Amino acid sequence: MNDVCVVGAGPAGISCARELRRHGCVVVLLDRSSQPGDKACGGGLTEYAWELAGIDPGRVPDHARAFHRLVVGDKSVETDGPFVVVLDRKKWQAARIDELREIGCDVRLEERFMGFSRGEVRTDGGSFGCDVLIGADGAASRVRRLLGVQRGLVVRAWQVTVPSGHRACETIEREAVTVRFDHRLFGSGYAWIFPTVDGVRLGCGASNASLSAGDLKASFFSWLDELGVNPKDGRVRCGTIGCGYAGHRFRNVFLAGDAAGLASPVTGEGIASALISGREVAREIIDPSCRSKEIPRLAARHRRTHDILSIPWIGRSLYRLAPSILKIPFIRTEAMGRYG
Ligand SMILES: Cc1cc2nc3c(=O)[nH]c(=O)nc-3n(C[C@H](O)[C@H](O)[C@H](O)COP(=O)(O)OP(=O)(O)OC[C@H]3O[C@@H](n4cnc5c(N)ncnc54)[C@H](O)[C@@H]3O)c2cc1C
Repeated sequence: MNDVCVVGAGPAGISCARELRRHGCVVVLLDRSSQPGDKACGGGLTEYAWELAGIDPGRVPDHARAFHRLVVGDKSVETDGPFVVVLDRKKWQAARIDELREIGCDVRLEERFMGFSRGEVRTDGGSFGCDVLIGADGAASRVRRLLGVQRGLVVRAWQVTVPSGHRACETIEREAVTVRFDHRLFGSGYAWIFPTVDGVRLGCGASNASLSAGDLKASFFSWLDELGVNPKDGRVRCGTIGCGYAGHRFRNVFLAGDAAGLASPVTGEGIASALISGREVAREIIDPSCRSKEIPRLAARHRRTHDILSIPWIGRSLYRLAPSILKIPFIRTEAMGRYG
């Protein structure tokens, strides 16, 4: 069996390492951070990947909340069961990392990947040999850069986390997830309000093909102003989300999750794609004749919708109608299944 080094203990790296260990591979999982998951992220996870994330929506852990209600503009949409779970990424990843250690994965935190050549991995802590390298190191992937693969399409996103008890939280709906579509402010992207166990996350994101970095930043602060939220009331962070897929298999080097550019360019949702692609990459390594059907499907997912929504007059009209359209049960079910 292969000796494998997985770079990045995010959803992609965790899911990949777990599948590899289950099949007897010797796995080193590296992360430069002492607390993987401490990053800009809404933590919203839709049904699509609850099982892979180890989430039972009927019994969500203390660090997560499940929601049945979505507010779009001035319309409120109720669903029969929960449609999204909002996670504390740090706590959720810490629990998954403990499970990996229990099944014999060599997890090395605060160790930064530096390079790979002739079967040797270099880190800031030394070097070791391995047969296969997996870059699950996020949107700014060093592994991807070393392969010479361009980053391409990304979603840029801004978010502020306001802690509970803060005055800004009093006027914000805490029992529903709120989204706002506004082509003028957010291009083909959108803004979200995700209540958490201990506060509220308010953010917005849009692809680099539909809005410039400067315009998105200005929209974020003007939207907060409109809501009466002072950015100084919380912690403001920004980040990019990889949506430019250009292959995931390069001889004995593989890419998964944001590093492979597999997040949705419409919703910026990348946790589910990271979990799925991590597992798929592991399967290709375990069985070298296996070729994932899921990865090309993830890469194509939402791409055409993104391109259509990026055309200003189409995006503007569709987003203006979104709150009313989502009231129609059939369309709501379809949209939440596809884009939730
Ligand atoms: C503001 C914002 C809000 C978002 N909200 C949502 C949301 O609500 N729902 C959703 O599904 N997605 C959301 N996303 C996207 C989501 O965060 C990513 O798609 C997802 O985290 C990708 O998972 P990953 O495992 O591929 O990479 P990451 O989660 O980024 O993990 C990569 C890991 O690699 C490590 N690493 C990087 N470089 C090195 C190195 N050289 N050596 C060692 N370790 C390294 C990092 O420390 C990190 O832990 C959001 C993103 C942003 C920026």
